[in-house]
Formats: sequence, C-alpha cells, structure tokens
Amino acid sequence: MPEPMIRSTRYRLAILDATTKLAQLGLNRGTAGNISVRWDEGFLITPSGMPPNAMHPEDVVAMDMEGSPLGRRRPSSEWRFHRDIYAARPETGAVVHCHPPFCVSLAVLHKPIPPYHYMVAKGGGRDIRCAPYATFGTQELSDYAVAALNGRKACLLANHGMIAVGPTLESAMALAIEVEELAEGYWRALQLGEPILLADDEMDLVLEKFASYGENAQAAAGMGS
Ligand code: 13P
Ligand code: ZN
Repeated sequence: MPEPMIRSTRYRLAILDATTKLAQLGLNRGTAGNISVRWDEGFLITPSGMPPNAMHPEDVVAMDMEGSPLGRRRPSSEWRFHRDIYAARPETGAVVHCHPPFCVSLAVLHKPIPPYHYMVAKGGGRDIRCAPYATFGTQELSDYAVAALNGRKACLLANHGMIAVGPTLESAMALAIEVEELAEGYWRALQLGEPILLADDEMDLVLEKFASYGENAQAAAGMGS
C-alpha cells in the first residue's frame, strides 16, 4: 500500500463511518451527498456515485487544492465546493454535504431557516441562509455555497440540500444533524401558522453565549487525548 494511503487510513475510515451514519439517520439516501476532511496540502473526499455500503477506504480520493485527484475512483462531483470552502475558510477541517428531507423541503422553496428557535445560532449567524440554485458539480454552485457560508457554518442549497462545516469531522457531522432538526422544527411550525421570530439583538446575545458554550466537552476531549 502506498505510504500516503497508510498515513491517511484513519481519516478514510472516519469518512466511511460518517457516510454510513448519515444514511442510518436518514440524512442521505443512496448515493446522495458527500464528505471531505482537510488532509496534507489538500483534502480527502468521498468517491462519486458510490453508496456507503460499497465504499472501501481505498475508494476515498485524495485531492490537492488545484483539484487534481489521486486514487482509483473519480472524486465527488462536488469537489469544487469542498476545495473552495477549505481555501476560503482556514479554520474548516471537514465539510459534510447531504440531502436531508426537511432541509430539502425548505430549500425547494428557497427558504432560509430564520431565527424561529435560538439554536439557529448554531449555524454561526442569525439565520441559516439558502444559497441560490445552480447545477450540481458546477463552479457556479461552489461560488454560491461559499458566499452563503460567509461567516457561517451551515447553509441550505436551493432545490438541492445542505452543507455543514466544522473544525473536525465530528463537529461538522453534529452540526449537519442539528440543522436537519432545525429544518424539521421550522417545517412543523409552518404547518400551524406563522412562527414568531426572535429579534436580532436576542440572536446576537445567543451567538455571544454560544462562543463559550460547550467548553466542558472541549476540556473533556482535550483531557482524553
Ligand atoms: P457525488 O456522488 O458525485 O458526490 O454526488 C452526490 C451529490 O450529492 C451531488 O450534489
Ligand atoms: Zn448533493
């Protein structure tokens, strides 16, 4: 096995676990979605068009920041937005893209998730934006996604799905799950009437509190390593 493959095995396995978890949670079905982690001078990304149960660690593709692939499979068709997010956001260590049903329901209406619940701030801002539609796999879609993620950690993609990012794969996965929960809550509330939204200054307060929220978990993770 080539040396870079051996060095990256741990990350390849983590990516496979994450694709399986998204399928088990119903956030992706079939070959929908893709996952990457920053690695070396570029990133590791899921192969295009393969369902989680067919993927082996060697199928994960290594890419550099020019978009040159190294591996036995073709990289995800969405490698451009993964690459462009890593380039634009030095703090990002992982990108999770999925087609979860409640996010998709809002995204087909081009509806962002407004501040109907304080947890919307988990996305890094007062709302979770919805990027305009562009054909999957295009540079246009990547440009829209990077703009919708500006200052944020998650966005919807019109007529398509959702992207969540984080410093680690665990954090990006946790956020993807939370965003789908938020989309579900908003979707349910819309069945009953017009949700009452939190004011900007309240959301700013929550964003400030979230800046230090979760420090216990971070300290515990640090102690364990
Ligand atoms: P890939 O299988 O090429 O990653 O495409 C899935 C997808 O979700 C495209 O947006
Ligand atoms: Zn997609």
